[in-house]
Amino acid sequence: MIPNSFRRPVSIACSILFVCFTAFAQEDSAGKKFRNLPIESTLANGSTEAKVEALLQKMTLEEKVGQLVQYSAGTPTGPGTGRSDYQDMIAKGQVGSLFNLDDARAANRYQRIAVEKSRLRIPLLNGLDVIHGYRTEFPVPLGLASTWDPDLVEKAARVAAKEAAADGVRWVFSPMVDIARDPRWGRMIEGAGEDPYLGSAMARAYVRGYQGKNLNAPDSVVACPKHYVGYGAAEGGRDYNTTEISEHTLREVYLPPFYAALDAGAGTIMSAFNSLNGVPASANPFTLKEVLRKEWHFPGLVVSDWTSLGELIPHGIANDGETAAWRAFTGGVDMDMEANLYHEHLVDLVKAGKIPEAEIDDAVRRVLRVKFALGLFERPFTDESAVNQGPLPKDSLDLARSAAERSFVLLKNDLVGSSHLLPLTEDVKTFALVGPLADDAGEMLGSWASRGQPKDVVTLKAALTMRVGAERVKYAKGGEIRKATDEQIAEAVAVARSADVVILALGEDANEMTAEAASRAHLDLPGRQQALLEQVAATGKPIVLLLFSGRPLTLPWAFQHVPAVLAAWFPGVQAGPALVRTLFGEAVPSGKLVVSWPRWIGQVPVYYNALSTGRPAGNADLSRPPSEGTEKFVSRYVDEPNAPQFTFGFGLSYTEFRYSRPEVGGKIPGATALSAMLRGRADDSKEVLSVSANVTNSGKVAGDEVVQLYVRLRGTSVTEPIRALKGFQRVALAPGETKKVTFSLTPETFALWDINNEHNVEPSRVDIWVSPDSSRGESIEFEIAQ
Ligand code: BGC
Repeated sequence: MIPNSFRRPVSIACSILFVCFTAFAQEDSAGKKFRNLPIESTLANGSTEAKVEALLQKMTLEEKVGQLVQYSAGTPTGPGTGRSDYQDMIAKGQVGSLFNLDDARAANRYQRIAVEKSRLRIPLLNGLDVIHGYRTEFPVPLGLASTWDPDLVEKAARVAAKEAAADGVRWVFSPMVDIARDPRWGRMIEGAGEDPYLGSAMARAYVRGYQGKNLNAPDSVVACPKHYVGYGAAEGGRDYNTTEISEHTLREVYLPPFYAALDAGAGTIMSAFNSLNGVPASANPFTLKEVLRKEWHFPGLVVSDWTSLGELIPHGIANDGETAAWRAFTGGVDMDMEANLYHEHLVDLVKAGKIPEAEIDDAVRRVLRVKFALGLFERPFTDESAVNQGPLPKDSLDLARSAAERSFVLLKNDLVGSSHLLPLTEDVKTFALVGPLADDAGEMLGSWASRGQPKDVVTLKAALTMRVGAERVKYAKGGEIRKATDEQIAEAVAVARSADVVILALGEDANEMTAEAASRAHLDLPGRQQALLEQVAATGKPIVLLLFSGRPLTLPWAFQHVPAVLAAWFPGVQAGPALVRTLFGEAVPSGKLVVSWPRWIGQVPVYYNALSTGRPAGNADLSRPPSEGTEKFVSRYVDEPNAPQFTFGFGLSYTEFRYSRPEVGGKIPGATALSAMLRGRADDSKEVLSVSANVTNSGKVAGDEVVQLYVRLRGTSVTEPIRALKGFQRVALAPGETKKVTFSLTPETFALWDINNEHNVEPSRVDIWVSPDSSRGESIEFEIAQ
C-alpha cells in the first residue's frame, strides 16, 4: 500500500530541479509494471537536489569516483581487498563510505579526516550489518517474522536504529527481504520466510522503524534491503549458488518484498552475489536498470554485496578487473563494496570513453542524495558520550522479551495424563534442564548479532533458576552442540531420571550453522543431540523440547515421540525470561510458521504457495505406497506424503480457536475495472470487497490468534498458487470471546502477473479462506467477471 503522504499531487511537491523525476513519473508504465515508486520518496526533494547539483559541479572525476567506493574498516573474516590505507584515501576524497567501524569514536575519527582534510569535505556514510538489533538483540529475523506483528518489528527496528545511530552508524544493511523456500540455505534465518505478502509487510515494518519519520533525524538510519534479487533461490540451498527464476516467478514471488521496502522509502538497496538466469545480480541490467530504475524509478543508491564485483570474474562474465568494473557499473551498481575495482578502474574507463561521465554523475547524485537526506553535511559527527554502555534500558528489554514470546511457535503439545504438557503447572517440583543451548548466552544472540553482547543475555537456566529456585533445577549440559561424550549423555540421563519434567534445549550452532556460508545438507540435530534426546526420552519422563534453530529441522522421531515441542529460533537478549514465561503460561504462544517445515530433506523445496500441477494428488492417500492408477499417476512421492510436517502459518496456542465460514461483503467489480484501478494511484488501495469470519476463543485461557486470509485464482492465463496469503490480523481473544475479523480486499488482492508478464486482474474463479494456517479452513467461491 502506498502511504498517504506519498499521494500528494506531483506538482505541489516538485521543484524545477525535480525535472528528472517528474519525467520518469509521467512515463506511462501501464500494464507491464508495478506502480511507480512514489517520487516524493524520503530521498528526493527540491532542496536536496539543488545541493546535490551544486556539489557535483565542483567535483573532479576522481572525487566523483571516490564517492562510489566503499571499504570495510573492521577486521573482515571473508575475502576482501585487505586495504588498510583508508586514512590517506579518505583525505584524497577517494572513499565514499566505510563500514564495520567499532563505535562512535572510530566513526568520528574517520569522519574528521573526510570533513577536515578532503578538498570538498564530503562526509563519509558509515554502514553496518544491523540485522535484528544493534546491542539490544531481538529474535533473529525469521523469529521476528514468526510474530506476524509488523508493528512490533517496526518498534524493534526503531530501537536498533537509535542504538546504531548513537554509535555513528547511519546506514544499516537490512532488512534482508530474500524469499527463502529451502531450509538448507543458511540465510533463511535472516529473512521473513517463504511468502511475498508477509515478507512485504515485514520489509515495510523494518524500513519504517529504521528510517523513522524523517531520515534527517540524528537517530534515523537509512535502510538497505538486500540481496537484490533472487539470492534465496540458490540451487540446492547452497549459498552463493546459481539461481534460475522465470520472470513470472521473479515478479510474483521474489521482487515484491523489495518493491515494498523501497515503497516504504528505503533509500538504498544491495545487489546480490548470485547469478540470475545466467547474469550475475551485481551486473544485471534487467533487474538493476530495467526494473529498479525504469519501472520503479528508484532514486536511491545501489551498493554491491561484499566483493561481488570481483566475483564477476569467477562467475565468468569478465576476465579482468577492468571489465568486471565496467560490467557492474553499466549493469547498474553505483557503489563497490570492498572489491576495490571502481577505485582502480572507473576513472580510466571514463577517460577511455567506455563509460560516459554523465552516468558517473548520476551514480554520484544517488550517493550524495542519501548523505544530504541523512543530514551528514550539517552533522557529520556523533556524540561520543557512551550511549551504548551501561545496562540496556527497561523499555528495550521489555520489547525484546515480548518479541521473543511472540516469535515462539508451539509445534506440538500433547496430553500427558489428562492435560496438555504445556503450560507447566506449579505441581512440578523438580525440573531437569538439559542441553547445550540451555545456558549459552552467546548462542541466544543468534547470527549477525551486530554489537550484541553475551553479558546482556539472560539464559534459560538463569531465568528458570530465578523463577523456581536453584534447588528445583537440575542441570546437565549433555554435551556440546556438535559433540558429546558418553559420560555427558549419561549424566544428562541421570539428571532427567531424578526430575519430574525434562526441559531439553537442543538445536543448531547459530554462528557456524546459520546465516551466510552456512548451508546444510542435513537438517537434523547436529552432533550427538539426537542420541541425547532418545536416551533422555527413554527415561519415560515428560519432555518439553525447545528447538533453537535458524531454519526448520527434520526431526521425525522427535515429532513422534516427544509430547511438547516449541520452535524458539534464537530469541535474543531476553531468551530466558521469554521462555520461562511461556513454559509457565504467563505468555501464551501465538507465533506461526513463516516457512513450511519439511518432514524430510527429500521434500525440499516444499512451500505452501506452490503452483498446481495437472495431476494434483487431491484426495489420494499418500501415507502408503500407491497401488492403483488414481493413487499412482499423480504428483507425489511413493515413499513419503507431500505435505510438510507443519504447514506455513501453523502454530498452536494454549487455547483453541474456532472459525466460522467466511462471508463476502459487497460485489466485486469486473476484471477490466480492477486492472484499471490497479494502475490508478488513487484507486490501488481502495477496498473492492470485504471478507469476514467470526473467530472464537473456545478454550480456557486468553490468547492471540493470527487470522490469515488466503486466495486462489483459477481460470487465469497463467497457473497461480494453490493458496496465496493476502491478509493477516493478530486478534486478542478472551476465553469464550468471539470477534468478527474483517479483511478489506483491494485490486491488489486479485492481481497477478499474466501471460505477458503484465500486472493485471483477470476474469477468474476465486476461492477465499479465512483460516488459522495455510492448509485448513473452509473456503468460499465467487467469480470475477470480465
Ligand atoms: C553479506 C551481506 C552483508 C555484507 C556486509 C556480505 O557478505 O552477504 O548480507 O551486508 O557482507 O557485511
